[in-house]
Amino acid sequence: MRYLPYSRQDISAEDIAEVARVLASDFITQGEEISRFEKTIADYCGAPYAVAVSSGTAGLHLACLALGLRPGDLVWTSPISFVASANCALYCGAAVDFVDIDPETYNLSIAQLESKLKAGKKAGKLPNVLVVVHFAGQPGPMKEIRALADEYGFRIIEDAAQALGSRYGNLPTGACQYSDACVFSFHPTKTITTGEGGMVTTQNPELAEKIQMLRVHGITRLSPHAGAVWEGWYYEQQLLGHNFRMSDIHAVLGSSQMKRISFFLNRRAALARRYDALLSPLPLRLKAVPEECLSAHHLYPILIVPSKTKRTRNELFQHMRAQGIGVNVHYIPIHTQPYFKKLGFAEGDFPQAEHYYPHTLSIPLFPSMTEAEQDAVVACLVDFFDG
Ligand SMILES: *Cc1c(COP(=O)(O)O)cnc(C)c1O
Repeated sequence: MRYLPYSRQDISAEDIAEVARVLASDFITQGEEISRFEKTIADYCGAPYAVAVSSGTAGLHLACLALGLRPGDLVWTSPISFVASANCALYCGAAVDFVDIDPETYNLSIAQLESKLKAGKKAGKLPNVLVVVHFAGQPGPMKEIRALADEYGFRIIEDAAQALGSRYGNLPTGACQYSDACVFSFHPTKTITTGEGGMVTTQNPELAEKIQMLRVHGITRLSPHAGAVWEGWYYEQQLLGHNFRMSDIHAVLGSSQMKRISFFLNRRAALARRYDALLSPLPLRLKAVPEECLSAHHLYPILIVPSKTKRTRNELFQHMRAQGIGVNVHYIPIHTQPYFKKLGFAEGDFPQAEHYYPHTLSIPLFPSMTEAEQDAVVACLVDFFDG
């Protein structure tokens, strides 16, 4: 068997033709492909506003800035995520802290959030913004988080980098029913790809306008008189922004990929269901999916259960890699990274996250993976535990 990665993008001949069409056109950036892709995502999510940016990380950064985050402020997020979920706070000069995970879903724990808010209120250290990570493409407990946000007065950014196509309750992630803004990534491992790219959705027109300005240096061409655009060369820089634009080359790839999003999601779901059945006899714990959630199945994390086997995750990692199976680990708890230890975090701060990390392994899951390839992964796992 050829090397099987844990994730692989799916680029069609039509995707390539669409990118070639834009490359040969007059505008390879700042043309009409951006607004076309924005409308496609907004319609898909049922959000009134979608703003395309250069990456998911840029989207998180601008969502924080647009919510007014600044030095002296505080952001909380989950320690089991990619570092970008926490870095967005630091870019704005705010401080970051973490809420430990739920041992069943690996998303942030509502019980932990509630007790940390109670303690934070007493200590006068409540968060301004909570970045809710939809880990592995599975939405976090948004309804409960919304109720706590109303009680304690913090804003909510959904880090849905992994979760385009997931649903919570009756609505798609990105509708922002319970949040101020939702951020997607189009990195090649995610539901759809633009190579690099991101999108922020929101129901809030002022927030959308601010993010639009912040992605182009803080510049606007809209005059303060309702809906009017300044004539000719004139523009105003009103904020200190960045160049976080998406190019039309990236956007057209995104629009083209969106034509196949149902296929991508259905394939991921079918493979995940098949893993659930095939892996159930093994000494593993599989992620719980609460009833109100429909996951985008970005990752398939399996957990070694120490009470059921003496074999370790590190041995399993070596075994799988030696057979050409590109397993990976998601994630090293953010607070244990050297940069965050320098900020004052230490081992032991978030026990559930630290218990999760040494036992977890992400096994291959992507739309073009065949059942034969999946059977080979399962056989390799069975062999490991039998041997
Ligand atoms: C991928 C990812 C990001 C960053 O997105 P980029 O587009 O790579 O900048 C942020 N948060 C999470 C949870 C991610 O998985």
